[in-house]
Amino acid sequence: MSESTSLRVAVDTPAHTAISEPLTYLGDPALPAGTLVRVPLGRREVTGIVWSAGDAPEPGAAVELKQVLHALTSLPPLPQRWLELVAFTAAYYQRGTGEVALSVLPPELRKLDDAQVRQRIARLHKARAAALAAPHAAAHTAPPLSEAQQRVLGELAQATSQAAAPTVLLHGITGSGKTEIYLQAAAEALAAGRQALVLVPEINLTPQLEARFAERFAGRHIVSMHSALTPAQRLRSWLAAHLGLADLVLGTRLAVFASMPRLGLIVVDEEHDPSYKQQEGARYSARDLAIYRGKLEGATVLLGSATPSLETWQRAQEGRYLRLSLPARIGDGALPRVRLVDMNQQPRVKGGAVISPPLLDALNQRIACGDQSLVFLNRRGYAPVLHCGDCGWKSACAHCSAWRVFHKLDRTLRCHHCGYTERVPKACPDCGNLDIAPMGRGTERLEEQLAELLKRPDGTPARIARIDADSTRAKGALEAQLGAVHAGDVDVLVGTQMITKGHDFRRITLVAAVNPDASLFSSDFRAPERLFALLMQAGGRAGRDAAQAARSEMWVQTWHPQHALYAALRGHDFDAFAATQLEERRMAGLPPFAHLALLRAEAKTAEAARGFLQAASRLAEADAGAAGVTLYQPVPTPIARVADVERMQMLLESPSRQSMQHFLAWWLPQLHHERHARTGDQRILRWAVDVDPLAI
Ligand code: ADP
Ligand code: ZN
Ligand code: ZN
Repeated sequence: MSESTSLRVAVDTPAHTAISEPLTYLGDPALPAGTLVRVPLGRREVTGIVWSAGDAPEPGAAVELKQVLHALTSLPPLPQRWLELVAFTAAYYQRGTGEVALSVLPPELRKLDDAQVRQRIARLHKARAAALAAPHAAAHTAPPLSEAQQRVLGELAQATSQAAAPTVLLHGITGSGKTEIYLQAAAEALAAGRQALVLVPEINLTPQLEARFAERFAGRHIVSMHSALTPAQRLRSWLAAHLGLADLVLGTRLAVFASMPRLGLIVVDEEHDPSYKQQEGARYSARDLAIYRGKLEGATVLLGSATPSLETWQRAQEGRYLRLSLPARIGDGALPRVRLVDMNQQPRVKGGAVISPPLLDALNQRIACGDQSLVFLNRRGYAPVLHCGDCGWKSACAHCSAWRVFHKLDRTLRCHHCGYTERVPKACPDCGNLDIAPMGRGTERLEEQLAELLKRPDGTPARIARIDADSTRAKGALEAQLGAVHAGDVDVLVGTQMITKGHDFRRITLVAAVNPDASLFSSDFRAPERLFALLMQAGGRAGRDAAQAARSEMWVQTWHPQHALYAALRGHDFDAFAATQLEERRMAGLPPFAHLALLRAEAKTAEAARGFLQAASRLAEADAGAAGVTLYQPVPTPIARVADVERMQMLLESPSRQSMQHFLAWWLPQLHHERHARTGDQRILRWAVDVDPLAI
């Protein structure tokens, strides 16, 4: 071996430990930063990434440095800018550098040796050469652009020529032609010899988008990246992007870390969607990282939404992002008329009417004229709880502070939090009463009721399909059900919010929200924002075919028809809704006017969890105030106990992002020691910090 030098190598070690930063090893000085290596760690051999050449070890230094064992030299090193993105993510979300780096690489890379990697790369090159030699279908040409689209593209081109890497908000209602703008912007990037990355919030939406990109970019190499790929597929997509073979990468949030040497454009579709936030490990926001990455790579970032997040909206108002808008549907299709059903005026039915008579009539009328309807309710199962009228027993979960949901199809009581499942008891477990009854409604019960009440013109029952997490568990089930809807074999589609996102249904002219009120009074300050986005998006499923747009309707059943949120919805007035919400947030000192972090702790008892958070608070006492960070009292999480574990959280708030960052970096390492100091009854099972949390 040639002369060794010291190298800093990032390996997967937990955050906030003494060894969370890249470790020093001895290795070949010719190994560039970004090279994957195998190194000894304790008794194990692990994968690491050469982060930088280390400082020369002091002569006679007490530590014996270990040697790098192998290097994957046939894999081109990860680009410097990729390393910077990872380092930023780790620092900002308070995790280990190596932990983040290795968690976002395809797991296969940890298993293969250099020869195997060389072989995979050779295969990819061969496949690409073969694809290029083969004749391929002609690319579909773009439709003549609408005036609004031309204006948006003109402004986009101007912005790109003026700023190195502009962040652009594309605000346009569903069906206004945003996707066409993404396609055109991607074509520009590709023509300039660069790669484009397109992020979507849900795996279910990737096939549809992929089809549209594949048509337009026939002959170009397009890969997808999401968690449903097999490890081998994921490695292939990743390598194609990393080697620069793939021109386009389409994927969910983890794709924001795709290694792309020629990245020129990042699109974040439905940028407001909460799915962009990772909910474990490094709790990153792929939307926020996309913006950071755009600056790093000199790439344009295009954020698209009909209902932008208030963070994005506010930044656009301040002029930090360029705001472009597509105010009308393509072909001047009208937006659905919004109809509010005042449930206070409806006849009361035992257990509460789920579908009011006027909505029922409207649904029957649609069926009569061959239109489809979509009815959604954000609760799966038959009923959220079973109840004994005699003694008051309810189907509580023994392990969580939650009710077990009644599923009638397989006659089970299931906890949606811990999974605890039992057969439905024949009688009340407490008093033996045989008459235990479901309370409230879920999608199963809604489906059952609609099947009883809705008829086709020939008197046969209406054809109802249900799409929710239960009905789509089997592989291919969702595709089959969506296929039936598209083929016209379904009159009414019932489901959870799963059916409100993205799908391009052509024959739906009525969309109904059965019971959306709960979000109006939630303790989570973002609940109204999410509800508004959900209802706008759901409404967007109606009248997508311009011929039917004029008769499309969005129905909302509510006990609070006067609420400002519904008034804004009626007028399709996002601007008004955003203005009121932002004013409330400004007064209350909430995001985007403040920066939040949540410290969560889990323990066998609430006392232990609270004790840890209180100790953490005491540690911070002197410095938090000086740093401009406010710590609030520990409180139980919205569902305090899950699977016999008690969970508490503590909110931190600061008007300055930087202050919050400095404070966390100083504070969290001390909590690591605090946790280890707590034993016996006071033991903490887990703790974690969530920077910029979405759910409070
Ligand atoms: P969004 O992404 O805003 O929901 P899309 O880009 O999907 O909107 O456009 C809605 C529909 O209009 C799609 O069927 C699309 O093919 C079509 N479309 C978009 N732009 C044009 C255009 N300039 N001319 C004709 N049809 C268009
Ligand atoms: Zn009872
Ligand atoms: Zn449970």
